[in-house]
Amino acid sequence: MMIAYAERFVHESDAEARQDDGVSGLDLQLQGILDWSPAATAPAARDFGGLRSAKPRAVVRPSGADDVARSVRAALRSPSLTVAARGNGHSINGQAMSDGGLVVDMRAAGAGHFQVVVGAGAGAGGAHYAVVAGGALWDDVLERCLSYGLAPRSYTDYLGLTVGGTLSNAGVSGQAFRHGPQTSNVTELEVVTGQGETLTCSRSDNSELFFAVLGGLGQFGIITKAKILLQPAPDMVRWIRVVYADFGEFTRDAESLVTRPDGDTFDYIEGFAFVNSDDPVNGWPTVPLEPDQRFDPSRLSPDAGSVLYCLELGLHHQRSNPPSDVDSVVGKLLGRLGFVEGLEFRRDVGYADFLLRVQNAERDAKATGLWDAPHPWLNLFVSRNDIAEFDRVVFKGILKDGVGGPMLVYPMVRSRWDKRTSVVLPESGEIFYLIALLRYTLPYPEGPSAKQLVSQNHEILKTCKENRIDYKLYLPYYQSQEEWKWHFGKQWGRFVERKARFDPMAVLAPGQKIFSRSSVPGKMASDGGPAGLH
Ligand code: FAD
Repeated sequence: MMIAYAERFVHESDAEARQDDGVSGLDLQLQGILDWSPAATAPAARDFGGLRSAKPRAVVRPSGADDVARSVRAALRSPSLTVAARGNGHSINGQAMSDGGLVVDMRAAGAGHFQVVVGAGAGAGGAHYAVVAGGALWDDVLERCLSYGLAPRSYTDYLGLTVGGTLSNAGVSGQAFRHGPQTSNVTELEVVTGQGETLTCSRSDNSELFFAVLGGLGQFGIITKAKILLQPAPDMVRWIRVVYADFGEFTRDAESLVTRPDGDTFDYIEGFAFVNSDDPVNGWPTVPLEPDQRFDPSRLSPDAGSVLYCLELGLHHQRSNPPSDVDSVVGKLLGRLGFVEGLEFRRDVGYADFLLRVQNAERDAKATGLWDAPHPWLNLFVSRNDIAEFDRVVFKGILKDGVGGPMLVYPMVRSRWDKRTSVVLPESGEIFYLIALLRYTLPYPEGPSAKQLVSQNHEILKTCKENRIDYKLYLPYYQSQEEWKWHFGKQWGRFVERKARFDPMAVLAPGQKIFSRSSVPGKMASDGGPAGLH
């Protein structure tokens, strides 16, 4: 990609550039662009959460991995500069920000690399794969793979996220029960480490870096390329929602479905809690899949509680399958479930439309301004052992009136997750649940303020702790060393060792607030622990 070399220092004003002591003194030698105009730094100071702001010194638009490495090496030469890779900035708590440092806009190089390999690489754990840039958006990856009749195996619910951004966390959706998270579906990475080296890594080569980076919250390296496993894409999805009044029955059925063998269960399994009322945002109207479907509350028994549950299921099929065949498979699978009779909704959608379903909601939310309002989201993994207690104290207690958006609750299977990655899961049980409280704030005083919702999130976590619920934050955000240590638990020592090895001066991903920048190379390692922990 040829981006004018002469543009490597692009400023709104040259005078401003000369006065800048942090970046203008560095010769990044970029093939791409270094931009410290307010037009570039202001968007990098915001994220989807809309709760925090930290303005970078400048934004790098890399032309490829070499520019990413040059940025990291430039930061290493300075006493205090940090580097944050920014995927699509869809974090909630400023995780992709760098206060006064460099933000590398990974999307700039997102379309620069794309290669699909069909029917090869069986030795790498799958017959088909795509090699894509770390800054590629998943919806773009999907679209390009579909043109080969292929598709990734594991997704997030929303595909306007970058490959590097989700692999730095885990990447979960209704396919994770079968294929594991997205971190379980990547076989090779190209990574620029915190020492400015560009390395290829996999389960067999540079394996410690490979596993460190997956779920590594951007702490060990910047993913510039990923090799992603693919599968043949189906044409269609039979999309189904069934309603439960009883949480025990809901979890029994959900757990039975996620542990059945392939071919004897659905291809997509999620679920959500909702309010037993006609509230358009939190209640019955959120369940039907088509405008002409109606939620009939008279189907519920009179002793149904204030919170109900919905299993959301998907079965892949081909357009050429006779509808009666699909009906018969679905009938057999649903026949084993104990949902409320008559509260069952079905719809056939194209595979891509199904995977892009949240993008439709995005369009609506953008039109009403909700997309750009603050999102005090809370995501947790909760052990199956404590999920009934979580339901009692959180869903039926603190959240009995809803959160002003979806409250996802669905099970996943631990053995599909590789414990060598940096992802942190609850301590006990083979099955654990994703809980996602996806709050959308209405303009105050129409609804509670973002601050009130953040404080309700704190109350939920406090209640979990008081009730000894085995949980971990997903997409974690903590501010103190004690909290991070608690989060990582037994994995803390390994995380610190990995940091000392791959980013010893703590240059990378400062917005996670785990380590602070060190000016002495190797100090973290020689101390046996990072000197500059938050
Ligand atoms: P950013 O927010 O830009 O970055 C996140 C972190 O990763 C930062 O620390 C950043 O420095 C680091 N990073 C970014 N790119 C790289 C890279 N190339 N190499 C190394 N580090 C990097 N998550 C799920 O698992 N499942 C879902 O269904 C899901 N749905 C979502 C729906 C919406 C509408 C939103 C806003 C978020 C959702 N998420 C979901 C959460 C999402 O996966 C994370 O917030 C993810 O980090 C966002 O990706 P991003 O590309 O915007 O990353």
